[in-house]
Parts: sequence; C-alpha cells; structure tokens
Amino acid sequence: MGDVVVVGAGIAGIQAALDIAAHGIHVHLIEREPTIGGHMAQLDKTFPTNDCSMCILSPKMVDVSRHPGITIHTCSEVEKIEGEVGHFRVTVKKHPRYIDESTCTGCGDCILVCPVEVYNRFDAGIGVRKAIYKPHSQAVPDIVVKDQEHCIECGLCYDVCGPGSVKREDKEQEIVLDAASIVLTTGYSVFDARKKPQFGHLLFSDVVTSLELERMINASGPTGGRIRRLSTGKTPESVIFIQCVGSRDMKIGRPYCSSVCCMQAIKNAILIKEKNPAIEVTICYMDIRSYGKGYEEYYERAKGMGIRFLRGMPSDILADKDGLILQVEDSETSEVHVLHPDLVVLSVGMGPAESITDLARKFGIALEETGFVKTVHDALDTTATLRPGIYVAGTAVAPKDIPDSVASGESAAMRAYRDAVRLRSA
Ligand SMILES: Cc1cc2nc3c(=O)[nH]c(=O)nc-3n(C[C@H](O)[C@H](O)[C@H](O)COP(=O)(O)OP(=O)(O)OC[C@H]3O[C@@H](n4cnc5c(N)ncnc54)[C@H](O)[C@@H]3O)c2cc1C
Ligand code: SF4
Ligand code: SF4
Repeated sequence: MGDVVVVGAGIAGIQAALDIAAHGIHVHLIEREPTIGGHMAQLDKTFPTNDCSMCILSPKMVDVSRHPGITIHTCSEVEKIEGEVGHFRVTVKKHPRYIDESTCTGCGDCILVCPVEVYNRFDAGIGVRKAIYKPHSQAVPDIVVKDQEHCIECGLCYDVCGPGSVKREDKEQEIVLDAASIVLTTGYSVFDARKKPQFGHLLFSDVVTSLELERMINASGPTGGRIRRLSTGKTPESVIFIQCVGSRDMKIGRPYCSSVCCMQAIKNAILIKEKNPAIEVTICYMDIRSYGKGYEEYYERAKGMGIRFLRGMPSDILADKDGLILQVEDSETSEVHVLHPDLVVLSVGMGPAESITDLARKFGIALEETGFVKTVHDALDTTATLRPGIYVAGTAVAPKDIPDSVASGESAAMRAYRDAVRLRSA
C-alpha cells in the first residue's frame, strides 16, 4: 500500500516517476511500448536551445531504470482500476514480448539475422525495422522484442541467441498493483495528415509530416541525418512548411492551437539551413506563436538566417511532370505566389493519445470535447482530474512543449506524493 502508479512513460511520466521516487514512495511506471521515452525520443534537437533531444532524455531514462524505487512495466496497459484514493487496485495487462527479459543482453545478434523487414513506427515510416527489433539504440530496457505478427518463424534468431532468450511461445500476464494514487501521462498522437487529402500525404512521396522530418533530420535516423527527397533520394533545393495541419481547424473538429508546431517548424527550418545553407526554406503560416522563454529571439534568428515567412495557407498541393505545385496568397500584400517546392513538410497538430477514450472509461475520468483530459479548473488546477487521487500531466492535458510537460509532471508528482504520504500517516 502507498505506492503510486504512473501510466505513460514519455518525458512527463518519467519526470513524475523520478520526483515521486526521490521522496521514498515506490512507483510502478506502466508503458504500452517496448521502451520508455515517448515522443521525445523521436525528436532530433529541441527548441529553443537546439539541445540534442536524446542527449537530455537518455540520462533520465537510465535514471529511471536504475532507481530502486521505480519498477518499469513495458508492453503493458491498464486493464481496470478499482477502489478510491489511498486504496486503488490497478490491474495491468502485460503483452507478450516473446523474449526472456531476465536473460536477453540486448546484443542485437538476433536482429542481424532476421530476414523480415517491416514498417518502422519509431521512424514514422521513413525507415524499416526487423521482425525482432529494438525500437531504437538507446531503448530502456535495453532488450529486444519479437513482433509475432510479422515473424515468419524461420528460426534464425533462436539459433543465434547465446542465452536462448527468444521464445516461440509467450502469453499475456496480469499484474495487480495497490496504489494510493495514480498519475496519467499518456501523451499525444500526431494528426493523421491523410484526413486532409488536399495535401497529398502518402500520395506524393515528397510530402512528409513534421514527425517524419524529425526522423529524417536525425543523425541516428534512417537517412543518417540527410534531408532528401523520398522520390529521388536527392537533396531538395527548396523546402516548404505548411503550418496548422490538423490544428485551428473548426471543419475537422480541432479548433485548438497545438502550441508547439510553429516552434517546431522554425527549429527544423534552422537545422535544414545549418546543414545545407543553399536550400531555400519557406514557412507558410496563419500566425507565428512563439510564446515561451527565448522563443521570440529564436524566431528572429531564423529570419536572420534567410528563412522566408509567408503569411498565407495553400488550399492544396498538386503535382505535374516537374513536381509539386502550390499556390499561396500572401495575406499581407495580397500577392499570389505559385511555388514549386522539392519537399513539403506538413506541420501536423497534436491530438490526445489514441487510447484516451478507452482509458477515460477505465479510469472513470472525464474528457474535454477535444479528447484531452478534463481537469478540476482550466486555470487554477490543471493537474487533478475529476476523480480524487487520479492526476494528469504532460500533453494528456493539452498540447504542450517539453518544458511545460516536465513542469506539469513535477506538479502531478507532488499531488500524488501527498496522497501516498497521507495514507502512510493515517
Ligand atoms: C514534430 C514535433 C516536434 C517537436 N519538437 C519539440 C521541441 O523541439 N521542443 C519541445 O519542447 N517540444 C517539442 N515537441 C513536443 C514534445 O514532443 C512534447 O511536448 C513531449 O514529447 C510531450 O511528452 P508527454 O510525456 O506528455 O507525451 P508523450 O511523449 O506522447 O509520451 C506519452 C507516453 O505514454 C505512452 N502511452 C500512451 N497510451 C498509453 C496507454 N494506454 N498505456 C500505457 N502507456 C501509454 C506512450 O507510448 C508514450 O510513451 C514536438 C512535437 C512534435 C510533434
Ligand atoms: S534475444 Fe538473444 S541475440 Fe537477441 S538481443 Fe537478446 S541476447 Fe542478443
Ligand atoms: S524467427 Fe521470426 S523474428 Fe526470428 S529471425 Fe526468423 S522471422 Fe525474424
């Protein structure tokens, strides 16, 4: 009794888990994926400092894995929550990994011999992975997972694995945890750009999303950090960003601002320019929202580097034999521009985690119309859900950048800790 369960191990959940455990309360960190880290592990650099994202995230992931007061449950999801604040019973379903977690050394010999290549979700589809794989090289825990759906049972990985860790059979397990309080940090999902078919995502290979670009621009990503046209493999001469794809759009029921996409586009425009100064970079926008510490200065820096900011949104993207074409009316001058970019980046908005409706039902908490978690007050309490003892942090509440996700993880940790301590002293 008196433990805390944190559900979702992105940066907000990791921060909450570390803060609670630092105060001597045991934490169970539940993560659906085979590794902790969330979206931050997919990013290249982070605005406005251009810190390498993994360089600041990875030490925290390692701290979590080494902390005696934190138990990580990967490939796991909450099935049921019973009880009330101080006395929750949380039933967790652990999906089969088809690997003996206690003996796998993470050497990767099995990955080398596996003949099957499939779509790589971690690389946002830009690269491929094997049927037995590690999500990325800095995964925590540092072990592999076998994707039974794509495995053809060739047997090579069983033969090559020294400790005999690969399992032919594995089954789902159920774990029941007692918890004084719960922190929900299940994060966000990016907008599926196919829902705006006028922009041709997955129709034109040179139209990519901002998350796909993050993987492309990342030195440890599938292109080794090379910005390239997926159609030809060549370096583009011009790149256009289209902002607010799946944000501030009443027609598709997403009226809110995703808050990070302007800064994300400015960041990636700067990174492109730093790597290849000859590439012409244009950002087509409605408004630039650079509201955080050092953000406006970052925007000014981008302008100083020759990045073009064009206030106007193209209605669609077309293609002819020479490539992509889009038309934009500059709302400041009323001039109409016809542009022929080599590469288009759709700055896709943030929505709630795909599983949020199901989670809200299991957790007995309320959601906003947008699908983000409803909290006690939009200004004065953005951490407590409407069910006592269940707190929420990070982008599960609303779109946020990393600094705000960390701050809200810390705030939720303090609330959950208070419940756990109250129980101990009762
Ligand atoms: C293209 C792009 C670029 C960005 N660049 C920057 C940047 O440079 N700087 C910056 O400050 N911000 C940036 N951001 C925003 C940044 O990604 C977020 O602020 C941050 O990652 C949010 O962390 P989180 O922990 O709230 O959510 P997430 O990172 O989404 O983590 C949520 C975790 O919960 C897990 N989960 C989900 N559902 C369940 C479930 N049912 N059960 C168990 N686990 C579950 C997920 O697998 C995931 O691990 C960018 C965003 C995008 C889209
Ligand atoms: S399953 Fe075996 S071969 Fe594969 S990483 Fe683990 S120890 Fe290495
Ligand atoms: S048995 Fe499956 S996972 Fe192992 S190498 Fe063959 S295809 Fe890959």
